[in-house]
Amino acid sequence: MVSAGDAVVLGGSMAGLIAARVLSEAYDTVTVVDRDPLPEAAAARRGVPQSRQLHVLLARGRRALDELFEGLSDELSAAGAPLVDLHDQVHWCNDGHPMRRAASDLVGVGVSRPLLESTVRARVRNLGNVRFCPPAEATALLSTEDRSRIIGVLVTPRVGAAYPIHADLVVDACGRASRSPVWLAELGYPTPPEQRVPVDVTYVTRVYQREPRHLDGLLGALTNAVPGRPRTGIVAAQEDGRFAVALSGMLGEQPPSDHEGFTRFAESLGMPVISRFVRDAVPVGGPAQMRYPASVRRRYERLRRFPLGYLVVGDAVCSFNPVYGQGMTVAATEGLLLRSLLSGGPDRLARRFFRGAGKLIDGPWSIAVGTDLRFPQVPGPRSARVRLVNWYVHRLHAAARTDAVLGEAFLRVLNLVDPPTRLLRPAIARRVLRGGGADPVPSAGVAGGR
Ligand SMILES: Cc1cc2nc3c(=O)[nH]c(=O)nc-3n(C[C@H](O)[C@H](O)[C@H](O)COP(=O)(O)OP(=O)(O)OC[C@H]3O[C@@H](n4cnc5c(N)ncnc54)[C@H](O)[C@@H]3O)c2cc1C
Repeated sequence: MVSAGDAVVLGGSMAGLIAARVLSEAYDTVTVVDRDPLPEAAAARRGVPQSRQLHVLLARGRRALDELFEGLSDELSAAGAPLVDLHDQVHWCNDGHPMRRAASDLVGVGVSRPLLESTVRARVRNLGNVRFCPPAEATALLSTEDRSRIIGVLVTPRVGAAYPIHADLVVDACGRASRSPVWLAELGYPTPPEQRVPVDVTYVTRVYQREPRHLDGLLGALTNAVPGRPRTGIVAAQEDGRFAVALSGMLGEQPPSDHEGFTRFAESLGMPVISRFVRDAVPVGGPAQMRYPASVRRRYERLRRFPLGYLVVGDAVCSFNPVYGQGMTVAATEGLLLRSLLSGGPDRLARRFFRGAGKLIDGPWSIAVGTDLRFPQVPGPRSARVRLVNWYVHRLHAAARTDAVLGEAFLRVLNLVDPPTRLLRPAIARRVLRGGGADPVPSAGVAGGR
């Protein structure tokens, strides 16, 4: 590959690390700038407030990360993070219907967010041409006089004066608070049209000791939010013999953080396997709470004018309602997209990348937003297609109580292995429609779960 010069990545979290890994193959040097000190150890940090919250790495994300960082899942597994068959080793209860389990190739890793990030960071640190700056905040873009090309970034360190870093490519991986729209406007460029779907989610995560008897020997449990009961519960095995539990409420519902309130909230989910666990297990450390106001998608692919030498990736482009666990997987698949585009050289990189990323985001965005639109309080247009798909998926959940083929088809889509349209293919539709009736959604919370 012909070298494209020097690159700078703003933000050293998952999307930034993935971008740095890919750019290291095409650029002479890659410099990563983050406002946080980036620890050697697996530790939560201020710039990533969600790092204290339960994170699920979907099957597609695990595969993509393994492509980018060879043997990563094995390394995580050797560090004690269990590999989990997401169909066979997890209790699923969707719309109140317990899903029939079966062996599958949908394998995720049960890993805490700090361990995943620090393992990936160590891999990136080992790349000979990647350098991590001392903690510094990116504060402005540097451009050519005619403003057609970005030629670097101004950074402000914690101590001392601001200084420029010059580069042939600058990548914004600063997460949902990205300042790219503001920086572009300052340079006279249009800002990307933004879609916002308010969901007002509150997460509370607690970590517990894991014992073989917990969850009847399985490695996870999940029950989804339904209209009338906008509450979700997720239990996921992690490294160090632990389970993380995330309880979340949408639309202003807030799980309490104290043991009694947390347990009552878990009981309200109607999935005894989760409430029993929360009541009995021994907590490790205190609870962590976080609010997430809205899913946000910035449509960079719709911009007619965009400077050369600049890209935006990860949550800075699209931040999804976290209950669907998609963000890191989308960042990893964007990394694979960037790698394949760079193999053809850096020409018109931004246009090609945003077009590809837009297509890649369409699927997960339609899953997250389409499902959230089941709740009448979530504003947004409900096309006939959205209503039909939600009706159909609800029937699918009912039929998946006994039909493991349907459970697997659903999980393949949820894990971003298959596109959502795969659920509508005739072989699946016949099984869904034959599968009998479905409980009305509002009563779903009282049924199901073992
Ligand atoms: C509660 C919650 C739960 C989630 N659960 C899951 C899950 O289960 N599965 C999943 O795949 N995803 C999940 N996500 C999403 C996931 O955390 C993100 O998609 C993922 O971290 C990738 O984001 P990112 O790297 O683009 O940005 P972030 O992780 O937000 O990182 C941004 C980085 O940029 C740095 N930064 C910001 N501004 C500047 C600046 N001006 N200068 C220098 N540095 C800067 C920050 O310090 C930080 O390191 C969840 C999110 C939330 C909020």
